[in-house]
Amino acid sequence: MNLILVGPPGAGKGTQGEILSEKLNIDTISTGAMLRAAIKNDTEVGKLAKQYINEGKLVPDDVIIKVVKERLSEPDCEGGFILDGFPRTTAQAQALKESGIRIDKVLSIEVPDDVIVERLSSRRECSKCAAPYHIVFHKPLKEGVCDKCGGALIQRADDNPETIKNRLKVYHEQTEPIKDFYEGEGLLVRAVGQSSIEDTTKEVFKALGLEV
Ligand code: ADP
Ligand code: ADP
Ligand code: ZN
Repeated sequence: MNLILVGPPGAGKGTQGEILSEKLNIDTISTGAMLRAAIKNDTEVGKLAKQYINEGKLVPDDVIIKVVKERLSEPDCEGGFILDGFPRTTAQAQALKESGIRIDKVLSIEVPDDVIVERLSSRRECSKCAAPYHIVFHKPLKEGVCDKCGGALIQRADDNPETIKNRLKVYHEQTEPIKDFYEGEGLLVRAVGQSSIEDTTKEVFKALGLEV
């Protein structure tokens, strides 16, 4: 299955993506995680992306489209993939379509803005493998340490109230229109985000027609 996850920052794309990845045995491709790795490694893309990300703005379409096309052409994507965080503009959605890559479903995880601000303020991320955690709703077994790889958990630089506000604005203005685009293609399904990760997973599986 070639799947796209759409939703505001903090909707649970990373969290549900991880669960779906295990269930479907396909990789999740998170453009946010790829860009943060590029910044950490001080690559050309990283240098370019850093300021946009820290201000809560989108990285330019041409930059991210090139990164994603390269990634999707790698052999591990042949058996399917989950895209988390791409496309984020109609231009990106168009470019994906024009590249001839088949998409089977686009899952929108719907969560209101006020819930987002609380969630992102309490989000933590593994500095090594990018797995998502939450200080109340998804605690690691050992405080500050990733369950999966032992990496240190950190708070993302863009998970602060001011930047979160910008990211939500950008989401509504630039990203939400892609839902109409995919609705028009007959690919959009919706899951209403719930107050626990488990309940959201049930909605996600139902929307995708998967057995829990
Ligand atoms: P996204 O990838 O869409 O930005 P994440 O998956 O990183 O979102 O989730 C954002 C934060 O909210 C994380 O700290 C995560 O553990 C937490 N979270 C995700 N889904 C839920 C939920 N349904 N209820 C409560 N907290 C959640
Ligand atoms: P979240 O988990 O909050 O949804 P991501 O980790 O997906 O955020 O993305 C973090 C930041 O990386 C975005 O705010 C944006 O600056 C940049 N980014 C990620 N994906 C894209 C994309 N497809 N197009 C442009 N910018 C992107
Ligand atoms: Zn980890």
